[in-house]
Amino acid sequence: MKIIRTLYDMTEYRVGLRERNASVGFVPTMGALHEGHMSLVKQAVSENMVTVVSVFVNPIQFNNKDDFEKYPRTEEEDFKLLAAAGVDAVFAPDAREMYPEGNQNQKEYKLGKAAEVMEGLYRPGHFQGVARVLDILFRLVDPHRAYFGEKDFQQVAVVRNLVESEGLKVDIVACPIKRASDGLALSSRNSRLSKEQREKAPEIYQTLKYSVEYSKDHSVQATHDTVVEHLDAVPGMRVEYFQIVDARTLAPVEEWDESDWIVGCITVYLGDVRLIDNISYRLPY
Ligand code: AMP
Repeated sequence: MKIIRTLYDMTEYRVGLRERNASVGFVPTMGALHEGHMSLVKQAVSENMVTVVSVFVNPIQFNNKDDFEKYPRTEEEDFKLLAAAGVDAVFAPDAREMYPEGNQNQKEYKLGKAAEVMEGLYRPGHFQGVARVLDILFRLVDPHRAYFGEKDFQQVAVVRNLVESEGLKVDIVACPIKRASDGLALSSRNSRLSKEQREKAPEIYQTLKYSVEYSKDHSVQATHDTVVEHLDAVPGMRVEYFQIVDARTLAPVEEWDESDWIVGCITVYLGDVRLIDNISYRLPY
């Protein structure tokens, strides 16, 4: 597996692939890799001649300095996992390499209404930071397919909008959420939970699952309220938001028959660790 640190070397590597006419799969990550990331990587490896993974903790998508500083970094183990999974190249630049002009986000990306709700409201600047890093990475790696996890459900919609508004030629592939055996969605931030917090964390998915049953004979509002009340009652846990939305537009729904694809997206704080998850209430397939 090739380890690439600079934009120059990445460009050179990409030119070589073009000469070979290779189909390229790309998985952008912030490292601290777990089975969730690796499921995207496995799919990319199986669907493309060449797979490139980026590992870059993108400073400009963090709206909270503490969260950025405490974000786990496990580069050596990450590279071992990627090599064992058959990845061809990992691109792991530092921030000066990615943003030589500094961390200022100069361009305002058009990300549509999907970027204005939920994470867009609670993490100002987050999606512009995601858009900036992906714009650079997509142009550099020039992949045929890029793989994203549905754990970050809103991110997938926003990335699709970015691809469209920037006229980028890449297929966005959405991959299902990987969970621990107790249901907790795998996340790099889980490693920051204390033993006690980790024991409480599965309550998030258990409650979401229960709410799908509950929703069968209750309104959208009642379903929303039961989730928030239940989780807020767990000591040390606080719901930042829970929204039941149309999965395509991410606009809130008021009635279950408003859309054939409805998702509930939640963000919960356990102490100072911010966890996200989501669940489908209606599926078109
Ligand atoms: P991150 O390193 O958190 O930026 O995540 C990189 C990619 O992995 C994103 O597309 C995430 O949605 C995806 N991902 C993270 N956790 C999971 C998970 N538990 N299941 C599936 N995909 C995930």
